[in-house]
Amino acid sequence: MSEEHFKHVISHSKEYGFVFPSSEIYDGLAAVYDYGQNGVELKKNIREYWWKSMVQLHENIVGVDASIFMAPKVWKASGHIDGFSDPLIDNKDSKKRYRADVLIEDYQEKYKKKNQKEIDKARKRFGDDFDEAQFVATNPNIARNNATIADIDAKLKDGLENDLSKVKALIEELGIACPISGSKNWTDVRQFNLMYSTQMSATDGESQIYLRPETAQGIFVNYLNVQKSGRMKIPFGIAQTGKAFRNEIVARQFIMRMKEFEQMEMQFFVAPGEEMKWYDYWKEHRLKWHTNLGTDPAKYRYHDHVKMAHYANAAVDIEYDFPFGFKEVEGIHSRTDFDLKQHEEFTGKKLQYFDNERNESYVPYVVETSLGLDRMFLVLMSTALQNEDLGDGNTRTVLKLPAALAPYQCAILPLTKKDDLPDMARRIMKDLSLDFNCYYEEKDSIGKRYRRQDAIGTPICITVDHDSLTDESVTIRFRDSMEQKRVKIADLDAIISKEVSMKELLKGLV
Ligand code: ATP
Repeated sequence: MSEEHFKHVISHSKEYGFVFPSSEIYDGLAAVYDYGQNGVELKKNIREYWWKSMVQLHENIVGVDASIFMAPKVWKASGHIDGFSDPLIDNKDSKKRYRADVLIEDYQEKYKKKNQKEIDKARKRFGDDFDEAQFVATNPNIARNNATIADIDAKLKDGLENDLSKVKALIEELGIACPISGSKNWTDVRQFNLMYSTQMSATDGESQIYLRPETAQGIFVNYLNVQKSGRMKIPFGIAQTGKAFRNEIVARQFIMRMKEFEQMEMQFFVAPGEEMKWYDYWKEHRLKWHTNLGTDPAKYRYHDHVKMAHYANAAVDIEYDFPFGFKEVEGIHSRTDFDLKQHEEFTGKKLQYFDNERNESYVPYVVETSLGLDRMFLVLMSTALQNEDLGDGNTRTVLKLPAALAPYQCAILPLTKKDDLPDMARRIMKDLSLDFNCYYEEKDSIGKRYRRQDAIGTPICITVDHDSLTDESVTIRFRDSMEQKRVKIADLDAIISKEVSMKELLKGLV
């Protein structure tokens, strides 16, 4: 996917009512977006595909909908108050703010690019005989570049863990300049917490309260409520979708990195010692969920974490090949018993499970799957949007979304505005809208109307013509093949149901 295609995705999303910049008439709000009339439907359908695949297809997974506000101590226990921060630095001349670690990583990228150039040059020179692994292992320029990268890595790690002034010193030592002003006039590096806070009134005054930076804690604090009231037996899972908020400093790349976004998370509670088995299960199952949507599997890859978060004993990202490279869409984390133990300690309440088979009580271990709904939306828009050459000198823009997720399942188009055709079309619509989201349109030529439906991904168009008045039939046209056929009005429900079936999609997962 090229940069150009990405720009097309952004402009198409706006032009066709999928995603708008927030408060646009006030010139927008950085890194905050609104979903429009088609976007909200697509988003709802992705959420539903996720929810059904988790809750409906797993008898041992149930859902919750916890509040965005939580007792402030939750975030002390979870480690977010002390540890959920990014190292920031400002350029005094441009007044631009950066993540210090990202500035340094971008600097390292130059050496990685130099290595790639050496490799490309050698491949040209040696042709078919080129052995990349051997070349990389023996080329002195690459060895020098790698040593520089490793040296920077070590200094960065030391600075981040022990003393942020060392991170600033490293930026100065490397001569890193502000990409905007070219100035090397930097402030000190400081930690910036990513949580938003606000005030909540209480009888004894006001107290500081946070907007949740992840939905997971709403699941942990309800673990015992759900386990007891639902008589859940380990292993079992709790799923939740909902908003999360992070004061991301370098927020860009459209809906990839937002300050307000939606997560779809599932925490799976298991017996201690069983976590790696379930980690492997969820790692595989989650990738299948993605590729089951028809996306080219080569566009996905796993990325194992080398540096683990303090609570995890294994972590992997499912990454997608965006125009800016492979980036995380979903994380699968083995979170051990860290969160529940912390909540036990901070509340003094036992969060244990009595295991009949083992005849013992324990704090369960947790394997988490955490998917960003907005990033998933971006994956689908990016893969679905295509400029198709029709072979007759014409092209069309078509959004080949999985039919079960499309905003509208069908469009109903009377051929003309006259001769009772709109009446008949509306009668058909009244019937079909009990099952489907139907689009009605009578303006413009039928060709133009087909193109507009292609652009929002509607899988089936139904055209009502003069013959329909007497033969109780209509012409249906399929989005992807553009094939048209005559069918009985009485059969429409069954035909559309088959084409847009969520059941058929879910079958790929069982
Ligand atoms: P990144 O490294 O890209 O910042 P993360 O590792 O902080 O992501 P997690 O905390 O694991 O992300 O959150 C789980 C999922 O939530 C991510 O895989 C991503 O899809 C989504 N997500 C996280 N931050 C954002 C954001 N600012 N905007 C949109 N989606 C996000």
